[in-house]
Amino acid sequence: MITAVRADHLVTGAGPVYSPGWLVIDGDRIVAVGRGDSPTGVETTDFERGAIVIPGLVSAHTHLPLGGFRGCADDLPFLDWIMKGLMPAIREAGSDPDTYARGARASAQELLRGGVTLVGDNFFRDEGSPALEATGQRGVFFQEVFGSTAEDEDAHWGEFEETVARLAARPRAHPFGYSPHTPWTCPPRTFGRVVERARAEGRRLSFHLAESREEHELFTAGSGPLADYYRSLGKLDRYRTGMTPTAYVAGIGALGPKTVVAHAVHATPEDLGILARTGTGVVHCPRSNMKLAEGIAPVPAMLDAGITVALGVDSAASSSRLDLFEEMRAALHAGRAARGAVGRMTAATVLGMATRNGAEVLGLGDVTGSLAAGKLADFVVLDASPARHRPVRDPVATVVHTCGPEDVASVVIGGVVRHRRGT
Ligand SMILES: [Zn+2]
Repeated sequence: MITAVRADHLVTGAGPVYSPGWLVIDGDRIVAVGRGDSPTGVETTDFERGAIVIPGLVSAHTHLPLGGFRGCADDLPFLDWIMKGLMPAIREAGSDPDTYARGARASAQELLRGGVTLVGDNFFRDEGSPALEATGQRGVFFQEVFGSTAEDEDAHWGEFEETVARLAARPRAHPFGYSPHTPWTCPPRTFGRVVERARAEGRRLSFHLAESREEHELFTAGSGPLADYYRSLGKLDRYRTGMTPTAYVAGIGALGPKTVVAHAVHATPEDLGILARTGTGVVHCPRSNMKLAEGIAPVPAMLDAGITVALGVDSAASSSRLDLFEEMRAALHAGRAARGAVGRMTAATVLGMATRNGAEVLGLGDVTGSLAAGKLADFVVLDASPARHRPVRDPVATVVHTCGPEDVASVVIGGVVRHRRGT
């Protein structure tokens, strides 16, 4: 069925902003976009005064099942957060599937209400995919692999293969790839095996990289608390490479256009050159990095280098609120503050990171991420009628500087309304 929507402002995310503007939708696709009043003879939904339509938001780095682990360590820095907060909480939860399923459903709902239509999710269990099937959101899933403390790496790899075989036998609604969790939690041989397997199967890779200074010290100098930890396990030589973590994973062949890395807070200028040359995408998670006291990723320098930078909320266990509007503002504020200049960190840049770039780094840039003829009808209707948004001089600036999940009036995914405010 062919229908149209019209709004005071239509932010296409592909360049033009139309005020007013319209979209014509046939089934799950957009067939036309334009300025002014919608074409005659098409049944049109005319949103209320003040509506701004934007492309669906994309959280390109998320851990949906961690929804149940919010508050497990809100005042600890990164390494203590993971070692003394999150890991004990996960051990305590054991393998109870309900904990993860409930967490994943809660995360998915929170993201949907906040206008997120596509999620890139990383986890070692499979509760995320059914959660997104229930909400109708799109997802790309990355099966995590660890093994840093495994006594027998081959046995650990065998367990991973069993998990993957079990998942592959199930009908899956979402594409999936692999996630060798981080260079310091997934040992070199296992990391290499994951990369090899992904390449052989044509799957995408996603992992955490250069997230912490402790990781940087471990790889470059074999010093710091992570080095002490691995020395106590007799495994330091695996990680003391004399290279940055980015150079190390590049040596394994893990980088490339089908790879997206999260964080890159401690990436050096040389590392940024490697990421740019290999066409590797980066997901910036500024609130997670700042809350865990790890610093601010050099996003303006990444953009200068030509790297595609997306945004992610990370998890409820780290950033607490799964809110991509806050993430956009944090990216803009932190990027400007760190460089002491506005530079590239404009509202249009961060909205592009939260939409188009997110779809691109997840391999779905051709089908979603902006509002254009031929793309999927994935969009969000924002209600910018309250006084806190007025006047709307530039709709993109309004979206980034003043909007939040409370302004999300409707979320449409593939032409289907998946969320209406108040429901
Ligand atoms: Zn993460």
